[in-house]
Amino acid sequence: MAVCLNHTDTPAVTSCAACGKPICEKCVVAGAYCSAECQAKADLAAGRTHQMMEGKARTDKKNKALKTVIFLILLAAAAAGAYYYMQNPKKAKNHFNELSGTVKNAGKAVGKRVDEAKERTNKRLNQDSRYKKNAEKLVK
Ligand SMILES: [Zn+2]
Ligand SMILES: [Zn+2]
Repeated sequence: MAVCLNHTDTPAVTSCAACGKPICEKCVVAGAYCSAECQAKADLAAGRTHQMMEGKARTDKKNKALKTVIFLILLAAAAAGAYYYMQNPKKAKNHFNELSGTVKNAGKAVGKRVDEAKERTNKRLNQDSRYKKNAEKLVK
């Protein structure tokens, strides 16, 4: 068993909870430390940990509150949409038809562009094959 750092003839009963020094019964401060400084250091560290835990708890609470707010906004938007639909079913249907019409037109526009691109590619391919034929003629 180690001896006390302060009293080399006395066996240590424990070691400091902060710095790990072996200490005898007479030297123990506050039941676990070798000195008042070590006790203060440990208290400070514990306080900091406590503060960090509290800060994290606060952030978690904030995030929860934000999620709740977003959920409520979405709920309100859905409710407003449902309410609008119930009040003006015809208007809502028209809106829906307009919307689907817009989507269809957009789809047509994209299809047209794809067709144009295909045409351009085909033209280029034809040109290429013409070049090839010309080249073949030259070789012959
Ligand atoms: Zn210590
Ligand atoms: Zn001692």
